[in-house]
Amino acid sequence: MRTEMKHGTQPLVNGNSEDFSSSRFSSLLATKDRDFLLSPTGAQVKVSDLEGKVVGLLFAANWYPPCRSFTQMLAGMYDELKRNVRDFEIVYVSSDEDVDAFNGFYGHMPWLAVPFSDLETKKSLSRKYDVEGIPCLIILQPRDNKEDATLRDGVELIYRYGVQAYPFTSQRLEQLHRENRERHENQTLTNLLTNHNRHYVLGHPGLQQVPVTSLMGKTIGLYFSAQWCVPCVKFTPKLISIYHKIKQMLATNGNDEEFEIVLVSSDRDQASFDSYFSSMPWLALPFGDPEIKNLVRHFDVQGIPCLVILGPDGKTITRHGRNLINLYQENAYPFTDAKVKQLEKQLEEEAKVLPSVVYHAEHRHRLNLVSDGNGGGPFICCVCDEQGSSWAYQCLECGYEAHPKCVRAVNRDSIPVTS
Ligand SMILES: [Zn+2]
Ligand SMILES: [Zn+2]
Repeated sequence: MRTEMKHGTQPLVNGNSEDFSSSRFSSLLATKDRDFLLSPTGAQVKVSDLEGKVVGLLFAANWYPPCRSFTQMLAGMYDELKRNVRDFEIVYVSSDEDVDAFNGFYGHMPWLAVPFSDLETKKSLSRKYDVEGIPCLIILQPRDNKEDATLRDGVELIYRYGVQAYPFTSQRLEQLHRENRERHENQTLTNLLTNHNRHYVLGHPGLQQVPVTSLMGKTIGLYFSAQWCVPCVKFTPKLISIYHKIKQMLATNGNDEEFEIVLVSSDRDQASFDSYFSSMPWLALPFGDPEIKNLVRHFDVQGIPCLVILGPDGKTITRHGRNLINLYQENAYPFTDAKVKQLEKQLEEEAKVLPSVVYHAEHRHRLNLVSDGNGGGPFICCVCDEQGSSWAYQCLECGYEAHPKCVRAVNRDSIPVTS
């Protein structure tokens, strides 16, 4: 079993030698009173059963929404993987607030868990692997060697590569990174949006088929969205209005540039897709199309709404189309670096004449003008609920922040005391 010794390497984990003559996982996951882990059926599973497997330690908690969505995704991947390989396991290390919360959350997980009562093990694992934020997935190889060290970025790897990341060896990951790079370099509209069976996207009216070839040479927005997603439903009307404005602007300019948007929906059923898409003036990939999953991976979409912009050559211009639209509306078009730099400069100029302090009709405290350099940074605007960056009006007392364009400056005396 100790193949690492054949290569004459030292068994090293993060620079600390471990005793591989006893079970590696026992020293991590068992205590002197407990040699088992919990399983979803309630049965106890011996820690020694993990020997020889690739093990993911999942640090998470029910009270944090990103943990819930990651766990759900991971469960899908786990089931898929377990159908094909036997030497993979996940162990939940809980940060739930109490045992009821633990039972509720663990009830949705198909893998093993450290018993909730064992706070000592939880603490020592967090310390050993420097777990600073959750969700966190630490991947441990069955036999440690220098090439396949402990991985800390399991969450990102799962989001990016799904089951393909298995068995998480450096060789496998290098191959995936290389393929990923090549896919981006060779990216075209055709290989993004079509497959062997489908060379069209859907349009209005009546879900008519629009050939993908008709989109070539246009600037394209891929709109990752779904009707069940509240921020999406809020952003869509805004995007529709900007879409019309961009189209109008291009028509007036009379050059031959064209702009189009394609909905990449993660709706959960055909009916929601139909009703959501019927509210939009642009095109869509068919509901449940297999390419949707590939696009989510390819563009590393971790949250929706997300607007990826492709240039006329089919290459990615930016994955931050949503943010640019929030900041600059239709002026963001064509979303290129050069355009964004020009807009930033302009914003900088405009900000120079903004008052450094204002009272806003919807907030009772004084607001200060901040920017990236002095206390600002990415924020969610409390007026329009959208993202912002660079310039903002910020309340030092309660953290309220808003886009300068969203603030309605008023006289101090007219601020309602209740807001
Ligand atoms: Zn705003
Ligand atoms: Zn305030």
